[in-house]
Amino acid sequence: MYADRLSSLPPYLFARIDAMKAAKARSGADIIDLGVGDPDLPTPPHVVEALCVAARDPANHHYPSYAGMPAFREAVAGWYGRRFGVDLDPGTEVLALMGSKDGIAHVPEAFVNPGDVVLAPSPGYPVYRTSTLFAEGVLHELPLTAENGFLPDLDAVPADVARRAKLLFVNYPNNPTSAVAPPSFYDEVVAFAREHGIVVVSDNAYSEIAYDGYRAPSFLETDGAREVGVEMHSLSKTYNMTGWRIGMAVGNPEILAGLGRVKTNVDSGVFDAVQHAGIAALSGPQDCVAAACRIYQERRDVLVQGLRSLGYDLPTPKATFYVWLPVEDSMDFAARLLDEAAIVATPGVGFGPHGEGYVRFALTRPVERIEEALARMEALA
Ligand SMILES: *Cc1c(COP(=O)(O)O)cnc(C)c1O
Repeated sequence: MYADRLSSLPPYLFARIDAMKAAKARSGADIIDLGVGDPDLPTPPHVVEALCVAARDPANHHYPSYAGMPAFREAVAGWYGRRFGVDLDPGTEVLALMGSKDGIAHVPEAFVNPGDVVLAPSPGYPVYRTSTLFAEGVLHELPLTAENGFLPDLDAVPADVARRAKLLFVNYPNNPTSAVAPPSFYDEVVAFAREHGIVVVSDNAYSEIAYDGYRAPSFLETDGAREVGVEMHSLSKTYNMTGWRIGMAVGNPEILAGLGRVKTNVDSGVFDAVQHAGIAALSGPQDCVAAACRIYQERRDVLVQGLRSLGYDLPTPKATFYVWLPVEDSMDFAARLLDEAAIVATPGVGFGPHGEGYVRFALTRPVERIEEALARMEALA
């Protein structure tokens, strides 16, 4: 009944974890879910209010424009200017997205012919892989390992693979490893993309979730970046808006136009009232972002120090709300945590073969729950 492309998809790992979790919950267990990366904190009230006001205005009850309202695109350009010193033309260098997943899922349709190579990190956000499969592209995984600082070694890409490559996904601050990239890494990316004629997609969903004074750069700050690539960005993680489905792609106008042509045929834009809320988020007070980071940072400290006192060796993340813990067998470890301690963590192998040997904890539960999880793990040991 189903098309071949469905059977070519890897099993969606989170669905499997959900099934295991549901079975555990049915048995009455008090589950501590450190699995999925969805903030437990609410959307800031001024953003919710902006939605409510805009939702009542009949002017917003129609089909939105495909590329996003001019006012939303101007708000994105303003935010990029203030935050990164990157100057964007809201008319041609900003495209509204229904979350950055929308952009990541559709960009291969615009650039990848069957058999073309897509370069994507492993471990990595699963949609890089599945969107490549839907476009009938060939995935070439770039291993992110502790040895390479979780940065892809572009020099290690074989020449014939680089020649056939059309698209390169990079993602820093990184999900799931929580690694950050030095600006010199983006210089290498630009040089590599220029040499091989590759479209770069920088997934910067976590730029604002950072600690200890670390400020993540935008790929577009790099000289030449705008000639070769775009950045996908999202309000989901920055403003606790995962359910709202709003994000943006910014950068190279030709690349955005290609993505826009695909999207024109599969969706009809982001509800204008949600875009008004997005404007309120990007243009309004930013102290809510700092407050969220303080909360995640406290959780990070509790979890990292707790894991260390249990005998684990792991670095302190500078960014993202993930902790990437080295373990023996990732699926075994996660299954045992769920079974014996009712803790949900994501097995690293679900993010690609090079995620084996790790589990990912998301800092999306209160400190008390993280402490409880650590106590349960201690009892297990
Ligand atoms: C959460 C996430 C996204 C997608 O978020 P949206 O809600 O679709 O904007 C994209 N990339 C990474 C790495 C993520 O973790």
